[in-house]
Amino acid sequence: MANFRDWEEALDEIDWKDVLEEVDDELLENLAGELHFRTFEALKDSSTPLGDGYHMTHLSDGQWAFWSEKNYVQEDVRFFENEQLFLHFAVEHFSLGEQEIQELVRLLEETPRLKSCAVCGHHFNPQDSARQELGIEGIYLDEENKEGECCSPQCAVEAVLVDMKEL
Ligand SMILES: [Zn+2]
Repeated sequence: MANFRDWEEALDEIDWKDVLEEVDDELLENLAGELHFRTFEALKDSSTPLGDGYHMTHLSDGQWAFWSEKNYVQEDVRFFENEQLFLHFAVEHFSLGEQEIQELVRLLEETPRLKSCAVCGHHFNPQDSARQELGIEGIYLDEENKEGECCSPQCAVEAVLVDMKEL
């Protein structure tokens, strides 16, 4: 029985809350990766909270991703081709009233459409306040034609380095 007691004590010493939180964090990072974000933090920063843990993200391909921070394990991300389709779903699913619909329309209007980095493929918000603070208006691989926009100066530098290696 001594062994069993040791085992029990060892289990007692594990902080299960910490373990579960770690698993949770990992799953949220997976969610972010699925939507082509570098981190969950970046995903959250680029999305609009709709209340009750739900968020809306306007992806670079024009689709809207509707996801839950609380129920992401049970509820898969839902994708919508356009705002109208989402509104239709939301009205039915959450039985929204007139005022709530108007509020939702306003929130969708405020959600920035994201761009996809030409180098790393991650989503980024061109209107991000951190970018504006740094005075980053747009970094392009092809400045003249404004093509191949990058998420960060780092990605632009990386593209140049790859180019140099190829020469
Ligand atoms: Zn990038």
